[in-house]
Amino acid sequence: MSFNLNQVEISIIVPCYNEEEGLDRLFERLFTVLNHLNLSYEIVCIDDGSRDRTLEGLIDYHRRYSAIKVISLSRNFGKDIALTAGLENAQGQAIIPIDADLQDPPELIEQLIEKWRQGYDVVYGKRRSRQGESWVKRTTANAFYRIISRISSVPIPRDTGDFRLLDRRVVDAIKTMPERTRFMKGLFAWVGFKQTYILYDRPNRLQGTTKWNYWKLWNFALDGITSFSLVPLKVWSYLGLFLSVLAFTYGSFLIIRTIILGIDVPGYASLMVTMLFIGGVQLITLGILGEYLGRIYEETKQRPLYLIRERYGFHEDFHSRELESSKLS
Ligand code: UDP
Ligand code: MG
Repeated sequence: MSFNLNQVEISIIVPCYNEEEGLDRLFERLFTVLNHLNLSYEIVCIDDGSRDRTLEGLIDYHRRYSAIKVISLSRNFGKDIALTAGLENAQGQAIIPIDADLQDPPELIEQLIEKWRQGYDVVYGKRRSRQGESWVKRTTANAFYRIISRISSVPIPRDTGDFRLLDRRVVDAIKTMPERTRFMKGLFAWVGFKQTYILYDRPNRLQGTTKWNYWKLWNFALDGITSFSLVPLKVWSYLGLFLSVLAFTYGSFLIIRTIILGIDVPGYASLMVTMLFIGGVQLITLGILGEYLGRIYEETKQRPLYLIRERYGFHEDFHSRELESSKLS
């Protein structure tokens, strides 16, 4: 660890998308907790292309409190990418991403830091319960975690969000991962390091609405599975093998029967069923190939993950008022 004068110890990263009504409450609670800690800190807020006055609100706060720094992205890129922009710009020795809607209680930051001081590199917040969520959401979430833990090569902790503390080492490791499909839970799990967790109750959103819907969740699940498992690509050879063996057996049976009993014409139903079945399996396989292929295509385009429109509060090595593209190096 190197120390210089403006060393920041803790960076809080807050991705914000249409959160204008919540900012006052957010900063009030954050400041109460952080000022109490006796550590130097910064709060890096990423405005993820909000359509309301979130950015204006954030800039206003930045003018009043220099610890608040603001990055405004050129459009809405989604939470995971906003978070990545934050990770790449934060300077602290420990970094804590937190939701702007206060669903990750800032009061827990103290506990996270305590574990960090005990020598852990990653301290994630694990939900004690999923109360206040619909039955469908809970069941589908359970199914997702069960499937992904079966087929993924790294264990992905369940019931955790992005609320966690990351040591500088871990952040530097994550910065070396250039993939576009940023399934953060998986990336955090992949890097390893010394991990532990604290339990907490996740409250409901205070105001505004969640940006998730079932279609988004489904795509999120697909991203998770395709980035961390090759099983869906591989099962088809086995199914194909199995079907070939069946077909071969049945074929032999047909040949022998024809030799012994002569030709008979009926068989339309069985033909239809087999054709449709095999056709269906082939289409599923193609679809799965497409899922992976599409992601490979996305990766090969090598576009920057996000574009920054303006930065406020990062005087050291950046000039604000400059359209800067950030590529992971
Ligand atoms: N968020 C974002 N970009 C988006 C969607 C969400 O930066 O495109 C932020 C949002 O402002 C909030 C956090 O990500 O701070 C979590 O979003 P949300 O509450 O909608 O998700 P949930 O808590 O339901 O998982
Ligand atoms: Mg939320």
